[in-house]
Amino acid sequence: MIYVFLFGLIMGSFYNVVGIRMPKRQSIVSPGSSCPKCGHRLKAVELIPVFSYIFLKGRCRECGERVSPLYPVMELITGGLFLMSYVQFGWSAELLVSLLFVSLLVIITVSDLTSFLILNKVLVFFFVPLLFLRLTFAAPEPWWLTVAGMLTGFGLLFLVAVVSKGGMGGGDVKLYAVIGTVLGFPLVVMSIFIASLIGALVGVTGMLFFGKKRKSPIPFGPSIAVGTLITYFYGAQIWQWYSGLFM
Ligand SMILES: [Zn+2]
Repeated sequence: MIYVFLFGLIMGSFYNVVGIRMPKRQSIVSPGSSCPKCGHRLKAVELIPVFSYIFLKGRCRECGERVSPLYPVMELITGGLFLMSYVQFGWSAELLVSLLFVSLLVIITVSDLTSFLILNKVLVFFFVPLLFLRLTFAAPEPWWLTVAGMLTGFGLLFLVAVVSKGGMGGGDVKLYAVIGTVLGFPLVVMSIFIASLIGALVGVTGMLFFGKKRKSPIPFGPSIAVGTLITYFYGAQIWQWYSGLFM
């Protein structure tokens, strides 16, 4: 089990690189990671996820420049989510779906936070295997709930994008086609609902504490990722609890 977590930490550190570099059209394999201020090339020990951050107290060893806490935080989150996937699904086709889905959402979160972008390349890369799994080894019963989920996710977000006149990016719309594919119908609707709640909370908090203007862009990707993962892991329980309120 510890190996699943460590695997998640390592993949998380790779997803940081993908999420930060791909929007800038930089290669994700070379050059190796370096300090953005002094250019100090990181050595193997300094690349160990989370631990290197703790040992170096979040600073570059050469120039003392602060390292963004986004790195260790996303590594820990990825490790935690990989572990959660394994605990919930064991060795099954659904575990593969879960690891792919978590990976997609982590990369989206990093790229949306650092450059306000959700890349088509990333979406397509994960969409193909996820759609395949959802129509074959990890299909819902009946299988067309996958297609219904995909169309619902894309359709509803497309409507929001039209009504809000560009308040929502095209990347979010396409992302929801992928999310709908994985969650299926009707869970995709719950995910949109929870993501909107989180997005609204983040927006209000931002205005209250940081004086952000209402129109200043807030990346919606992270809210979508959190709302979607809550729905993916706990959607059935939430629905039971919610419908129980009215019985
Ligand atoms: Zn440095």
